Formats: sequence, structure tokens, C-alpha cells
Amino acid sequence: MTQIIKTRAEWRKFSHSLKGSIGFVPTMGALHQGHLSLMERSAQSCEHTLVSLFVNPLQFGANEDLDSYPRRLQKDVELCNSVGVKAVFAPAPDEMYAYEHQNIVVNQEVENLYCGAYRPGHFRGVLTVVLKLLMLSNADKAFFGEKDRQQLFMIHRMALDFDLKTEIIGCPIIRELDGLAMSSRNEYLSDYHRSLAPNLYQIMNEVQAKLALGIDWNSLQEWAKNEIVDKGFDSCQYLELASQKSLQKLNTFSEPAYLLAAAYMGTTRLIDNIEINL
Ligand code: AMP
Repeated sequence: MTQIIKTRAEWRKFSHSLKGSIGFVPTMGALHQGHLSLMERSAQSCEHTLVSLFVNPLQFGANEDLDSYPRRLQKDVELCNSVGVKAVFAPAPDEMYAYEHQNIVVNQEVENLYCGAYRPGHFRGVLTVVLKLLMLSNADKAFFGEKDRQQLFMIHRMALDFDLKTEIIGCPIIRELDGLAMSSRNEYLSDYHRSLAPNLYQIMNEVQAKLALGIDWNSLQEWAKNEIVDKGFDSCQYLELASQKSLQKLNTFSEPAYLLAAAYMGTTRLIDNIEINL
């Protein structure tokens, strides 16, 4: 049965007492198949799988959905148990940040691009909590979804830059049958919006097909942003092509890239990305 631990001291003691390799999956809870796929991947390559369930206040902006973000500890623990998770760390915010931090983690190259341009401070909050969690969890490997491509890129760089012992492993995006990337925030969608939401991924695939035909990225970008709104989104926050190597913006499709997008369906912000190779 999956154990629940709520304090940093107990979690550190527990993780450091384990014999054998530790795979760790940080989450904000409201678990779905995307999260479970990371845990299953961990269970395949590590002796113990540990999970954190923590809605991290540090990564939410003042007008974002911190208060309304779904929280359901018991159901999440049952799901963790169903895939063989040894223990979950579920601290209260006051426990995680028991005193005011004087240090935070900042990526100086890409934190203000894409999602970072619209969510100031978001990635500092993410990197800071992930660093704390990796250290507390004594993780040999940690599993993150490609769904949050920019986040994954930055966590890879954090592990590299700070010589962390944890190996960072990116895992494929799990989608609904109609193509919508699974997300805890999909629950916010009305039935009507839910029926239109897969259009984002659909249009991104059309962009990929047009790039393969040699159509110029600049005209495609404009076309696709309009198409996203025409197909039911209220706005397209960004649609960009980024270098797979540096994550910097590309003005032409000249190297392996990610197509990254964020768009609003009502008040719900959805993100997605696909890999586009030459
Ligand atoms: P979150 O709870 O949204 O912070 O996500 C926790 C982890 O699950 C992150 O590494 C996400 O990238 C990953 N994740 C979320 N949705 C998916 C998905 N649809 N497929 C794969 N991984 C996902």
C-alpha cells in the first residue's frame, strides 16, 4: 500500500533509507493517464517509485488558478497505489516553504520565452520546487512529460548546470483519443469547449505537414494563429517554432524544431507542442 508522508524531514529520512534505485515523479496531483505513464516508466527502470503531490504556490501568478486548481489527495493516492508507487510526498505549502527562501533557481536564457513571457516568475517557481524535491527525494532518475516542453528543457539544464546526480528523463505526451493532450486543466472545459479543444493539435499537425511541403514559416504562423481562433479558441497566446537544441525562437524552419503553442478556450489556457524534424 502506498505510504503518505507530509513533512520534509520524514520524506528525506524515508527516501535516504531506501536500498536500491529511486525513480521520482513530481506532480501537482489531479492525476490522469499522462501522470501515470511517468510512474509506469519509472517502475520499469527503478526499484522504487516515489511521487510528489504538491500544488506549488511559487509557480502561480497573482491572477492564475492556484485556488481553483483541483485537489483530491485520496483519489490520487489510490491511483498511485494502482501503479505500484511506494510512497507519496504531499506537503502543505507551509511545510514546503517553512521559512522565506533567500535563494531561487533562475534560467537566464529561456525563462522569459514562450510560457515565460506570459507567466512572469513561473519557471523560477518550477525550478526552485523541482530542485528541492529532487534533493529531498534522493532521486536517481526523475520523469517529466514532454507536454511541458519548455519546463523539461529547463529542468534538463538545471540538472546539467548544477551537477545533480538525478538523471532527467523526458516521456511522450499522452493524448485523449481525439488528440487533445491530457491535462488536469482539461476538467475546466465545458462540454462545448472540450469538443473544440482537439483543434489545437489538429492545426499544429497541419502546420507540420505544410512545413514538410516547404511552405514558409512566417506565412504559416499567421495562417495557423488565425485558424486556431476560427476553430473555436478565444485567442492564441503564442505559436512559435523553437530550436530543439537551444529552445531559442526560429524565424525559419532551418533545423530540428518544436512547434510550441498556448491558446485560450474560454478562461482555460491550454498548451501543446510537437516535434518537427527536417
Ligand atoms: P503537473 O501535475 O501538470 O505539474 O504535471 C506533472 C508531470 O506530468 C509533468 O512532468 C508534466 O509534464 C507531466 N504531464 C502532464 N500531462 C501529461 C501528458 N498528457 N502526457 C505526459 N506527461 C504529462
